[in-house]
Amino acid sequence: MVFSRKLRDTAGHIVRLVEQHGSDIWWTYPIEELLPESVLKQAGSSASAQEFVPGRDVLDIWFDSGTSWVHVLEDAQQRADVYMEGKDQLGGWFQSSLLTSVACRNKAPYRNVVVHGFTLSEKGEKMSKSAGNVVDPDVVINGGKDKVKEPAYGADVLRWWVAESNVFTEVMIGPTVLNSAREDINKVTEAYKNYEFGKVIRLLEALVTRDLSSFYFSIIKDRLYCEEERDPKRRSCQTALAEALDIVVRSFAPILPHLAEEVFQYLPYKKEGDSVFRTGWFVPNSVWKKPGLVEAVEATCSMRDLFLGAIPGKNTAEYELSVVIEPGLLFEILEEESYQVIVQKTTKERCPRCRKYTAESALAPCPRCLEVIAGKWSQ
Ligand SMILES: [Zn+2]
Repeated sequence: MVFSRKLRDTAGHIVRLVEQHGSDIWWTYPIEELLPESVLKQAGSSASAQEFVPGRDVLDIWFDSGTSWVHVLEDAQQRADVYMEGKDQLGGWFQSSLLTSVACRNKAPYRNVVVHGFTLSEKGEKMSKSAGNVVDPDVVINGGKDKVKEPAYGADVLRWWVAESNVFTEVMIGPTVLNSAREDINKVTEAYKNYEFGKVIRLLEALVTRDLSSFYFSIIKDRLYCEEERDPKRRSCQTALAEALDIVVRSFAPILPHLAEEVFQYLPYKKEGDSVFRTGWFVPNSVWKKPGLVEAVEATCSMRDLFLGAIPGKNTAEYELSVVIEPGLLFEILEEESYQVIVQKTTKERCPRCRKYTAESALAPCPRCLEVIAGKWSQ
């Protein structure tokens, strides 16, 4: 107890001195000034005080960051999910954190260690100030002096770029990656669990640009814009869009936190939680997984491909598609070459409302649009 009080008094005294006069006091002040009154009194004389020697060996320059777990982890028994640093920290921060935590708590401060590579210049060279090829993250985020040459990209863009590069090895993009992206959004969760941020980004890019933007958004346009407000056809795709937005926003939130939070705050419907970061991780609803649905969509897509291949470069709206199958073979429609497609130029006129070639005259809406205008679902 006496020892610990002495130690506490001495440490408190030195902390005050450093706060007032800077850390040089350790080297410039005589020992009598480095010790607090209580310790000096106990030492009895100035000669006894000389028995105390301020240590001047460098213990570890990473010691302060190596003990950061004390402040970062709220609970003394807690462990961090991950410590992430460059490979140079294997003998540095990872090591000093492990040693200090094991010494004080008999347990590692982290469950996982992720070691990333170094950032190289555009030409693949090591960045160095003397070579003048250093990219300053602060300039990427806030922009340089000349905002035309070096515009401000914001923190999310930098985070996306870092996450996009494979943290462990070279980035490889090929058919395997794209094919795997199709299979399941659960793969995003798996990739996060394995700290494969580059894979997360490839999966999300494939989902957003191919599955959503170029496929789903294009096939729902007509029912979203032209069907009646309360028509189940329109409501169902609004539900699907809300679900897709929820999954996309929450799955990119760890990489683009600012953008995700902004989108979340503007969602026009009731949300769980006041922040995207309080909603928990998404669990895909099993209701959406219907057996045979993927095969049916793929079969429809190959049908569409045959149609598009028959009229290269033409306006598809001006053509009609007939699918010919043999009687009794309806279920085999999912299999290729069990049907034929016939493509003909339409004889109908362009509907002034929905712009589909389904009207009898270019001056009057098509039968579907007339029904919508009459308010079939409002009655
Ligand atoms: Zn119409």
